[in-house]
Amino acid sequence: MADSDLAGYFDYNATTPLCESARRAWLENSETAWHNPSSLYPEAGRARIRLEDLREQLADLLGCEEPERVVFTSGATEANNAIVRNAFFRRIAAEDAVLALSPIEHPSLSAAAEYWIPEERRRLIPLDPESGAVRVEAVRELLDGDDTIGAVSVMAANNETGALQPWREIAELCRERGILYHCDAAQWLGKMPAAGLGACDFITSSAHKYGGPKGVGFLVVPEDLDRPFTSFLGGSQEHGRRGGTENLPAIAAMLAALEEKGDRWLEEESAGWSAARDRFEAAVSERLGIRPLLHGGGHADESQPGRLWNTAMLVLPRGKNVKWLTRLARRGFSLSTGSACSAGRDKPSRVMEAMGLDYDEMGRVLRVSGGWDTREDDWAALAEAFAEVAMEV
Ligand code: PMP
Repeated sequence: MADSDLAGYFDYNATTPLCESARRAWLENSETAWHNPSSLYPEAGRARIRLEDLREQLADLLGCEEPERVVFTSGATEANNAIVRNAFFRRIAAEDAVLALSPIEHPSLSAAAEYWIPEERRRLIPLDPESGAVRVEAVRELLDGDDTIGAVSVMAANNETGALQPWREIAELCRERGILYHCDAAQWLGKMPAAGLGACDFITSSAHKYGGPKGVGFLVVPEDLDRPFTSFLGGSQEHGRRGGTENLPAIAAMLAALEEKGDRWLEEESAGWSAARDRFEAAVSERLGIRPLLHGGGHADESQPGRLWNTAMLVLPRGKNVKWLTRLARRGFSLSTGSACSAGRDKPSRVMEAMGLDYDEMGRVLRVSGGWDTREDDWAALAEAFAEVAMEV
């Protein structure tokens, strides 16, 4: 591993350290492109051109023909909220329709939906607990059932289990029926190929999930979306889609990080990465009776959709997960009890509920999420640490 401090870091789904290319891009743009892109003198014009170049670059990576579809935001939370508050709310009211969403959406989507869309206008798509994914057939049934569905939200990959969702097929089903489709790609991007995501009407993401800085991300909207759609009211930045001076250095750093995690590299390496994760799971499950919640999957070539290559969700045989967590932390390992967003709250995880775990099992779940530089040795050392802790609890 490039940075030995990272050898024990297994919480990449919560956040990632800034990668070198992002750091360089941030510094360079802070020095050379700090002017306000909306101002009217030549230096500002150069910043504006750079901003539009970055927009085009991102649109290319995602396969969006129209760069204006891309709106830079402070991250996925802002972007998810904006979609629900603007597009979904309006479509559902105008068409007397309902919103269909998976039960495993991130709270920045599900809580916004609960706030803005009345309960009788929301439908949960059932989850298949075996795969941790919604089934395409279940989505089709809902779309062709008695309800008028106005919008659908199903994420690309789940932050707690790593389970990949059939977003390509859902995008197609929605497109055929003229239904708005939003895909939260916060955990997908940087770990799986970006190409093709442009087929979704809405996409959301946060840069810090793949080596970019915190507090920057983006939102993709449909080209022909009714105006006004604004994430923030204010100035007319972001082609009128979001008020507020753009954070150009952070946006440039986000693009540098995303380019570094290029599709071809992911395709070449991810089979090896997921094999290392699988060997770790086999070791802890055979030796210690620790049960992985999901098995297999994790190749970025998508020949075996299933799971992100970096994530393992473990059900411990005994003892509270926090007890294991603190003992592993003492040995230099950082992991999480589930989603870091809900850690510290003694509330059952909606994802774990949807996966069919009972309350006692939920208290024994640990999430392990490695990264691009996590080596076989690091996984082996973590398995050893689990064995030591198992003797203590
Ligand atoms: N969606 C998903 C799937 C996530 O994993 C996260 C971060 N845990 C978010 C949205 C929100 O990202 P942020 O906190 O960077 O706004």
